[in-house]
Amino acid sequence: MTLPPSVLQQRIPLGDLLDLKAFADVCHSFAELYRVGLKVFDEASNKLVDVKVGNADFCGYIWSKPSGREQCMATVARVRSDPIGDEPGPTAFPCFSGCRYVVQPVLYEGDVIGRVVFGPYVPDDLVALPASLTSISADFDARLADGYAEKIRRVPEGTAEKILKHFMDLLDVMVFTGHKNLITARLHIEAVQESYRELQEKNRALEDSFAKLKELDRLKSNFLATMSHELRTPLTSVIGYSEMMLEGLGGPLTAEQREYLGIIMEKGENLLQLITSILDISKIEAGRIRLVLSEVDPGQLMRDAIATVLPLARKKGLKVACEPGHLPRLHCDREKVRQCLVNLCTNAVKFTPAGGSVTVSAEPATGDRLAIRVADNGIGIADELLARVFDVFFQIDGSSTREYGGAGLGLAIVKSFAEAHGGEVQVSSKVGAGSIFSLVLPLRPTLPAPALTPSAPFPALGG
Ligand code: ADP
Repeated sequence: MTLPPSVLQQRIPLGDLLDLKAFADVCHSFAELYRVGLKVFDEASNKLVDVKVGNADFCGYIWSKPSGREQCMATVARVRSDPIGDEPGPTAFPCFSGCRYVVQPVLYEGDVIGRVVFGPYVPDDLVALPASLTSISADFDARLADGYAEKIRRVPEGTAEKILKHFMDLLDVMVFTGHKNLITARLHIEAVQESYRELQEKNRALEDSFAKLKELDRLKSNFLATMSHELRTPLTSVIGYSEMMLEGLGGPLTAEQREYLGIIMEKGENLLQLITSILDISKIEAGRIRLVLSEVDPGQLMRDAIATVLPLARKKGLKVACEPGHLPRLHCDREKVRQCLVNLCTNAVKFTPAGGSVTVSAEPATGDRLAIRVADNGIGIADELLARVFDVFFQIDGSSTREYGGAGLGLAIVKSFAEAHGGEVQVSSKVGAGSIFSLVLPLRPTLPAPALTPSAPFPALGG
């Protein structure tokens, strides 16, 4: 993109440099003082100021004769735009009427930016009206014209030039001041425009990056959703057939074969859980969470979640308690809230060392809500990491040699499901002392219409 030249390189018209009204006042005072007319033109011969003093009757009389009018216009055109060079001195322009003008260029930093025309005045050496005037018409009244000419100031040549010089000095100061003010103002505008332009460019670049990132994110979510779905189908068969073999449907098994099949099933279940989480996250990111609302007993959901993690908790020697108390019915998506509680309980069990305890309790919360708490006395979370544990794929120990399994998706899913219900998930924790995660849900969610699908669950991806 080519930028316009800076204000420092531009030629500025005389009219832009002056406060024209104030300048016209100065010209009037000046012309009144010396009793001689004054005209100022810019570089393109546009008239900026025209003050007439004393010559109205004289010129008016000449103007009344056709030939006089014609010659008058020619003279005006000459003083207005005939070349005068760019020498700073004055040039005299005689008029056919015997009067005279002196013209001087207005210079600024070596450039001609206009001209000043001083006059008409009667030159000191004029003794009688010239024949070029008296011959403009047969009925020309020389006595009358003489009388009119008396009203025009008679000026010696040297004086005219001095007066003009005086005026030029004044004009110089005004042009200089005007230029300074204009440049300051324009530079300020240029600086603001430049900053604005840079900002616009950066904005455009940011918008581009944002669009690319969004597209990448969409591709990633699609990929995850498709892959997860494709992985789930064969995995379900692996688990199903292992189960059938364990039940003896494929014939009798040795103890060793049973043990191996048990491992295949357990690892298969873990893998299925991970794939389900990835599928959930990709649906969440694609904005495809649909809630299937029904009225549920929260106590039952809590007991279900505990039952899911009980085998692992027992294996680790953890004490597990469920304290549902007397709870109101909850209007929610049963499967998603169950999933939230399972995720929270799985973490509590996972991050609590042998001998510790995990407690699931619930109580009414402000704003017609229910808070279900999963508390443990495990390893805890440092304050500065508390907010980040809800990020997708975030794990406090993300190293490849980490002690605990998982993919960093569980809490992100809990948060999204809670928010889809109009609820939230809170956490408080202390390193070495344990953590409390609270799933706070409205008893009756009021959701925007598209998030609610009372009768049908969201369609399975890919078929
Ligand atoms: P995952 O458990 O699969 O790694 P999550 O999203 O469920 O992923 O949790 C993210 C991280 O938050 C975990 O890796 C762990 O570092 C931390 N975290 C979650 N729950 C607990 C807890 N009860 N105690 C200590 N740390 C926890």
